[in-house]
Amino acid sequence: MPKKIAAVGTAANLINLDIIIPQNIPASQVPNSKSEPIGSHIASPPVLDNSRITSHRPQIQADVIERAHILWDCAGTNTITLYCLDNGHPRTVQLQCASRVCITCRPIAHKKLLARWMPRMQQLDASKLVLITLTRKTTPGYALRERIIETRKACAKLLRQQAVAACLQGGIYTVEVKPSLRGEGWNVHIHLLAEITTGAYRRAWASKSAKHDRCDIYAPGGHKLSVQSLAIAWGKLTGDSYIVDISPVRHGDKNQAMYYVAKYMAKPPQSLDPDKAPDAVLLYNAATRGLRLVQGWGTWHDTHTHYRFAKEPKRNPRVACEYCGCTSWISEYTLRRYPYLWDYTTRVRRI
Ligand SMILES: [Zn+2]
Ligand SMILES: [Zn+2]
Repeated sequence: MPKKIAAVGTAANLINLDIIIPQNIPASQVPNSKSEPIGSHIASPPVLDNSRITSHRPQIQADVIERAHILWDCAGTNTITLYCLDNGHPRTVQLQCASRVCITCRPIAHKKLLARWMPRMQQLDASKLVLITLTRKTTPGYALRERIIETRKACAKLLRQQAVAACLQGGIYTVEVKPSLRGEGWNVHIHLLAEITTGAYRRAWASKSAKHDRCDIYAPGGHKLSVQSLAIAWGKLTGDSYIVDISPVRHGDKNQAMYYVAKYMAKPPQSLDPDKAPDAVLLYNAATRGLRLVQGWGTWHDTHTHYRFAKEPKRNPRVACEYCGCTSWISEYTLRRYPYLWDYTTRVRRI
């Protein structure tokens, strides 16, 4: 009997991977080597009914691999053409695809993220910044999407707790997801770049277990946030995870700290590979679809009054037409919907 499985965790309910793994087939008969032409395994003597299943396997695998490759790199093929309103000069603009693992689009999102948060961080002194990591225990057998949502909620609750809120007044956090190194389940953890409360200070100490320094935060009013107290609070919220870390951001390391927090955006997890683990690529993409994995809070929150870099008004750089210099554009879709807006014969705007 063929067995239908999802190769990773029990998140099969998320996506139907349609992988048929035949049972009782000698390893030599399963074509998995790239150098081996498809079908060469048929030369070996057929074993009972399995020969039929074996012949199906490369086809199904190829389909999963193909889907993974499409998600892996859209190669910048999502574009839209804009036309300048004065003279109709075309300009092609690349759009990001919806895939979270796309190696072409992820760097664009990463750049946007840095452009958005770097100015906020640059205003602060490094002595006001700490890096916090909150990890989740890797337990196989949970649905990845639910795990991510649950972890984010726990983090939001943690940041509202009095002891934490008294010591940290804002920052950003990112949720990083990668396949566990042990090959079972997924590793979900959160990186925070946090600004300590005005009037609070941090005290660093050398850790025996970690390669880097750690620190505790002391706030006015006798509040203290230590690695131990954070671990206890995180453990209570998650029920199973106690491994946390607080480390000071050193002078001159501010940018690295931001890159570190945003690193998950720069490229997909190393252990994902559309050739080696196509099912994991599909699962990762399905599980993270539409989820917010970057969040500013407190003084760094968008709507917070402190956040507005409002002393300098926000300037949206206007894209100018390289031929005529005009800065108004109409998209190809709008044109298609409202063709009367445009006189194609004279290429002159009617409105
Ligand atoms: Zn893409
Ligand atoms: Zn123009």
